[in-house]
Amino acid sequence: MLGNLSEKFEGVMRKLSGQATISEGNVRESMDEVREALLEADVHYEVAEAFCETVLTEALGESVLKSVEPGQQMIKIVHDELVKLLGGEEAMDDEGRPIEREPIMYVQPGPTIIMMSGLQGSGKTTTCGKLAGYMKKRGKNVMLAACDLQRPAAVTQLEVLANQVEQEVEGSGKVMFHGEPEKCAEYGQAVGVAVQVANRALESAKLQGADVLILDTAGRLHVNDELMGELRQVSNAVNPHQIYLVIDAMTGQDAVNSAKAFHAQLELDGVVLTKFDSDTRGGAALTVKKIVGEPIKFIGVGEKLDALEEFHASRIASRILG
Ligand code: GDP
Repeated sequence: MLGNLSEKFEGVMRKLSGQATISEGNVRESMDEVREALLEADVHYEVAEAFCETVLTEALGESVLKSVEPGQQMIKIVHDELVKLLGGEEAMDDEGRPIEREPIMYVQPGPTIIMMSGLQGSGKTTTCGKLAGYMKKRGKNVMLAACDLQRPAAVTQLEVLANQVEQEVEGSGKVMFHGEPEKCAEYGQAVGVAVQVANRALESAKLQGADVLILDTAGRLHVNDELMGELRQVSNAVNPHQIYLVIDAMTGQDAVNSAKAFHAQLELDGVVLTKFDSDTRGGAALTVKKIVGEPIKFIGVGEKLDALEEFHASRIASRILG
């Protein structure tokens, strides 16, 4: 995870921290190395350029060079800029530690409606199951609804996951399922079938006292008008409190480009970055906030149900800096 990027950053930081004095030349040289590391990690060119410019301006402007520990000061500036890039400034407590906020805002009375969107294969359905487990552990009753009606197998996949979470994840919450596989036959012929299923899922979630309703929606291999039209219809029908976009960290810039397209069509509230355990170069994590404007809420770190972590910018920034 982030192996190369982290190694490169560590190298640059080690060089800086080992020096008693730092010249403007040293700072510029380090920023050239940082820029190169970011580009290799598949960070968007403009984002990498802006990052290095900001660090340079701050470092040269804050008389870092004349300070007692210039290396440490530089590392702090780079860390803080990485945090911003990864998701913005986090609130700090009195001792300067980041205050980590709950990633999910629950509404009262429930159900809190969360709509998941994303391309096929991004890990959307798996993430629905992981999120249900995350919430079950926190005492929430969750209903998973299969609004991806392209294939009956997709409905079954979510049902299997829902049962698995209910049985395997410990927690006082309950995980329920709403799916209408027979509707898959109508899908594609009758407009609005996914909307009908979403509406019925909402009714059922209310009747069964679910605190959260998570809607798994259709994906496609590529962004297209049909997909976006359907997602907008479902969204207009049930008015989700939060819409998450699931993107695959391994696909780097492609992930960011599809995120841009989803962002243009839907009011996204956050991103789940999956496959962060794999050999991702990190570019998507470092670019998505800047491009989409919404923070990463969770990262998927494996195929298992518990392989979901809250995303905290400062922790990832520290991981990158080593
Ligand atoms: P969907 O088409 O977007 O619903 O994608 P799926 O949920 O079916 O996932 C596609 C594949 O990615 C499956 O093989 C999942 O096990 C795998 N997957 C999902 N999330 C992760 C993750 O965080 N890490 C890894 N390594 N694999 C994942």
